[in-house]
Amino acid sequence: MFQLPKLPYSYDALEPFIDRETMELHHNKHHNTYVERLNKVLESHESLTNKTIEDLLSDFQILPHEIRTAIRNFGGGHYNHTLFWGMMKNKSEGEAIGKVAKEIEKKYGSYKSFEEQFSNKANGIFGSGWAWLILNKDHEFDIISTKNQDSPIMEGLYPILGLDVWEHAYYLKYQNKRADYVAAWWNVVNWERVENLYGEAIR
Ligand code: MN
Repeated sequence: MFQLPKLPYSYDALEPFIDRETMELHHNKHHNTYVERLNKVLESHESLTNKTIEDLLSDFQILPHEIRTAIRNFGGGHYNHTLFWGMMKNKSEGEAIGKVAKEIEKKYGSYKSFEEQFSNKANGIFGSGWAWLILNKDHEFDIISTKNQDSPIMEGLYPILGLDVWEHAYYLKYQNKRADYVAAWWNVVNWERVENLYGEAIR
């Protein structure tokens, strides 16, 4: 049985950039629903209950056909949100640090240019989805988007940084102004966590 992970900070920790009410609904209702529905689907497939969420998503193509969409949506939702909570914190470093900072400079010229390209990707997503900085199969950085709750690990890609642009992530505070949410979000990025994820990815 999968469980809703605890937030690594309080619901109001990301104020004023992401408000308490949004965080509470997002974690306690939206994410929790993904976990509950994922567990419900697995009830009828006992052979899969010993698998990790990473296993389920990376082996997505060989899952029984009748549960593939459910695992994709609810499993992807559980995995993506678990990552997302850890990629934010109260006191951000302000910009990339360590090896990630170096790689960003190499690939995008400067941190500012990276931030702009990532923001453009996030703002350009039509409908619900995520923007990601991933490590591709050539071990290089790429900025990509995924639809709905699809996760980069379903494609064998390694997510380093992700941004949820579903309306439930920002609508209470930012309404239709997604670009304002995206701009504010940079103030709460946990670059130490991003650096650690990169370390795991290149290992
Ligand atoms: Mn979400």
